[in-house]
Amino acid sequence: MVSAGDLRRLCAFMRVTAEEFERTWGERRAGKLHIRAGKNAACVFFEQGRGCAVQEAKPDICRAWPYFRGNLVDAESLEMSKNFCPGIPMSLSHADFIRQGLDRLTGENLAGTGGPDEANSLQVADLLESLAKKDKKR
Ligand code: SF4
Repeated sequence: MVSAGDLRRLCAFMRVTAEEFERTWGERRAGKLHIRAGKNAACVFFEQGRGCAVQEAKPDICRAWPYFRGNLVDAESLEMSKNFCPGIPMSLSHADFIRQGLDRLTGENLAGTGGPDEANSLQVADLLESLAKKDKKR
């Protein structure tokens, strides 16, 4: 998913207008802009052997992986993610993952603010609130 901020960054990187970006690499789903899928249903910017062709400008949702809401609220989802993502240590507990994730999302300004163009996976305001309450009780 591409937010307004992501689109500005991607357009500057690709040296195209927003209209050109959307026409060439984007598609709308339920009114929200997404990067189109290419071969093998992978993101059109994914290049075998090279990785992400827009690494420096990739969308926030790509920067945030694996700290998606689903993994933060559901220990089972995190365990499934560990099975296919070698970047998540198998020994990492769900509690430690939550702390790391919320630190990363806030530290890198990736946490959603509830905007209509933002990915649901980045909406963690309630989780931040509940962690702050827990820390206050300590
Ligand atoms: S990291 Fe790059 S290649 Fe992967 S989904 Fe995001 S934009 Fe596409």
